[in-house]
Amino acid sequence: MSPKVRHIVKLLSRLPGVGEKTAQRYVLWLLTADEALSRDLGAELLRLRDELGPCGRCGNVAEIHEGHALCDVCADGKRDGRLLCVVARVHDLMAIERAGAMRGRYFVLGKLLSPLEGIGPDELPLDRLAVRIRDDGVTEVIVATPPSVDGEATALLLKRELAPLGVTVSRIASGVPHGGDLEFADPITMGRALSGRQRL
Ligand SMILES: [Zn+2]
Repeated sequence: MSPKVRHIVKLLSRLPGVGEKTAQRYVLWLLTADEALSRDLGAELLRLRDELGPCGRCGNVAEIHEGHALCDVCADGKRDGRLLCVVARVHDLMAIERAGAMRGRYFVLGKLLSPLEGIGPDELPLDRLAVRIRDDGVTEVIVATPPSVDGEATALLLKRELAPLGVTVSRIASGVPHGGDLEFADPITMGRALSGRQRL
């Protein structure tokens, strides 16, 4: 294999779910498929980090304009600002959006409380969450962390930390299997999990 091919295979195999064999297949395919595809892909990848970034309000993926990023959900004036759904990752936000069952807005934690991995409460953006709740006049926080040990621990932490703010804290119902991933829940299950949420 030429050093050039080896290099690009090595880069591609760093993507999640892509091993060396798959990376090699991608490279060989890109070399023989329509040339416009690899040129477009290359151009988009070059711009990716300049034009997209985390939304300054919720952490969702957003387009950057004049140094500021505001996602479509935060910019949508028809959303109910009193309802705030807290998720662990952008993947989860996207899964809930796909289900179309959320009329409020979101807050992405970025990580879960995890005593086993040494992630404590100080590493979660709880201060930013509190500011967001106050600024937006949020009345209900729906905790949609995954139904795992870390997800449950994070939900209980949020319940305790947010209690002084006087908001209702609820947890999505257990329509999503324990240990399961929100990302893979079908829209109906997700819709039921949200509508069946229970007060913590
Ligand atoms: Zn946003």
